Amino acid sequence: MDYEAAQQLSETVKEHAERPRNYGPLKKYNAHHRWTGPCGDTMEYWLQIEAGRVVDLGFITDGCETSIASGSMTGTMAAGRSVEQVMQMDPLEIYEALDGLPDEFQHCILLALTTVQDACEVYLTEQEELKARQTEPLSEEQRLKQRMGQIRHKIAVFSGKGGVGKSTVAVNLASSLALEGYKVGLLDSDIHGPSVPTMLGLEGVPLEMDEDGVLPLEVDGIKVMSLGLMLESQDDAVIWRGPRKLAVIKQFVSEVAWGELDYLIIDSPPGTGDEPLAVCQTLNDLDGAVIVTTPQKVAAVDVRKSISFCRQLNVPVLGVVENMSGYVCPKCGDVTQILAGGAGQRIAEDMQVPFLGAVPIDPQVALAGDSGQSFVRYFADSPTAAILRDLFAPLLRLG
Ligand code: ADP
Repeated sequence: MDYEAAQQLSETVKEHAERPRNYGPLKKYNAHHRWTGPCGDTMEYWLQIEAGRVVDLGFITDGCETSIASGSMTGTMAAGRSVEQVMQMDPLEIYEALDGLPDEFQHCILLALTTVQDACEVYLTEQEELKARQTEPLSEEQRLKQRMGQIRHKIAVFSGKGGVGKSTVAVNLASSLALEGYKVGLLDSDIHGPSVPTMLGLEGVPLEMDEDGVLPLEVDGIKVMSLGLMLESQDDAVIWRGPRKLAVIKQFVSEVAWGELDYLIIDSPPGTGDEPLAVCQTLNDLDGAVIVTTPQKVAAVDVRKSISFCRQLNVPVLGVVENMSGYVCPKCGDVTQILAGGAGQRIAEDMQVPFLGAVPIDPQVALAGDSGQSFVRYFADSPTAAILRDLFAPLLRLG
């Protein structure tokens, strides 16, 4: 600026030019903009906005004294105002406040104000986008991930075929964990014949939803959900094939609002086909699997298949349970071996997986299942309950 022009500047302008009030970038800011005007000068502003108000502000310019003065005065006047008020500021206000800025330098004010207002505009747009993202419904995949992230351990109970006591083991494992004080969920993922609700006396109890999803039913400290109960008609499950089945199982599992859990026990569909595969793929980081079998030799083939299935899916086998191994006389309590057995134990040794133990046929186990009571809780004094407790002990200490 030439000497004459400098002479024309008012004291206010000179003061702001020599000692700008808000000079330099801020350490903490959440709005920023840089703008180069037609004159070639660049203005840059940093704003700290809290609760919709500009609480601090800094700027720099590579321009002349009038640019520095205009930037400083604009910043001084914007600080403390709400973002909306800054957006409505008029260049005339700043011009008057500077009191004596030569007319030919008015564009400096315009450049400063436009830069601050643009910083506010960018800030408002980012806030809008953030809000929109937060209210956007999560995808099924994201919801599933979020829900599963709240569950510390997941154990699936498998069997090579139906009727060997898989659901009985799943229910009693869940109940043993709940009795130990853990937060437990039990997912009955058999979409064809849900037996868990019957075994826990929840048959006919309607499912409810809140904004977070389908709420598990609660009994004796266990949160229970049965995918079969989420189906409108049992006939639907029969007609689904491979990929469709996977999609439906995934959708159902992602709908269940478990909240935080220490353990989720999954009563898997029997066998090694599409359905257990869908369950494993959906709950993809299982801690491991418990495989239930019976003592007969013919069951051996199924156990081998189940162990290989787990190995292919990288699911650790936590152990094999040999169920219906011997008969407990209801009168004297003696155990009689009625089936030539030991197959479960032999296969476990053969395939180098842990053998958790053998559970006898005990009429009270069947009775408890039919009457909707978990055996380990309501028949806790019986010798079979003690056997189950010992058998589950390694699973109660996953950490
Ligand atoms: P799966 O889930 O393998 O089809 P379940 O757990 O439904 O098998 O058991 C089938 C039937 O056998 C049920 O009526 C159950 O109460 C009964 N049952 C299971 N284990 C025993 C056992 N150890 N003693 C007596 N009955 C049992």
